Amino acid sequence: MTSDRGPGHRIDLHAHSTASDGTLSPAELVRAAADVGLDVVAITDHDTTAGWAPAVAALPAGLRLVRGAELSCRWFGADPPVPLHLLAYLFDPDDPELVAELARVRAAREVRGERIVDLLRADGIDVDWAEILTGAGGGTVGRPHIAQALIRAGLVATTTEAFGPDWLGERYRLPKEDIDVFHAVRLVRAAGGVPVFAHPRATRRGRVVPDELIAELAAAGLAGLEADHEDHSPEERAHVRGLAAELGLFFTGSSDFHGTHKTVRLGAFTTSPEAYERIVAGAGGVTGIASG
Ligand code: AMP
Ligand code: ZN
Ligand code: FE
Ligand code: FE
Repeated sequence: MTSDRGPGHRIDLHAHSTASDGTLSPAELVRAAADVGLDVVAITDHDTTAGWAPAVAALPAGLRLVRGAELSCRWFGADPPVPLHLLAYLFDPDDPELVAELARVRAAREVRGERIVDLLRADGIDVDWAEILTGAGGGTVGRPHIAQALIRAGLVATTTEAFGPDWLGERYRLPKEDIDVFHAVRLVRAAGGVPVFAHPRATRRGRVVPDELIAELAAAGLAGLEADHEDHSPEERAHVRGLAAELGLFFTGSSDFHGTHKTVRLGAFTTSPEAYERIVAGAGGVTGIASG
């Protein structure tokens, strides 16, 4: 599972903190990354850069931090549109268009979260929106925070169960107001960032997009594909790697660590130094890699 390339080359480019739906604070995240022996870690919270400054401030000696985010996107070429995630690395966090778009998505997430709570309450399920918002601690609100309320209420035992079809996976699932994925790729590039399609083949999470769409995104500026991810089967990983080679993109491997909201461990999947170098070389948003 872990592709360990020896010292200096343990690179995990997808991790969440309390700035979104992870359970470690940004400072705890970078310390945990050093503790598990990573040389490079990326902080990629959903639709926010709020974790960047505290992560940089707490960076342990020897660890490099790639500042990033995971953007909530949608492909409108299918009916209904397909939700997807775009990892964006090293973009300018003050780019006005990107800042406005992320703020819009975060606000829409709150509206959607409260509507999910309304649906649950209409069915007599006692969850409280104010409490869920408090639980999110000012970070980007997501279904994992609602899942915690279902666990607290004793309705489900685990986050995984809360994402089942009877709960947030289907019955009480509402769409977010995501960013059109082509617009997102262009916004990230315009802000000097490097866009990478997160878990593009994760059929276990729901519908996936066709390879033709990925080719179109590559033509629009997509730089890489996340191949090694726990939500991809071995066949899906191989397929994504092959597609990346075909399209001239790099591929990454990452944990998508969420603290105790998921079972995957930090560093469970890693990225090659070659792919990492392509990200660094392709970036012009934030200057350089923060280094502890
Ligand atoms: P949202 O962004 O609000 O739509 O929630 C999606 C987030 O929930 C993802 O980023 C994952 O972190 C998490 N998630 C999705 N499916 C599962 C699952 N089956 N078990 C645990 N967490 C999940
Ligand atoms: Zn998440
Ligand atoms: Fe994701
Ligand atoms: Fe993620």
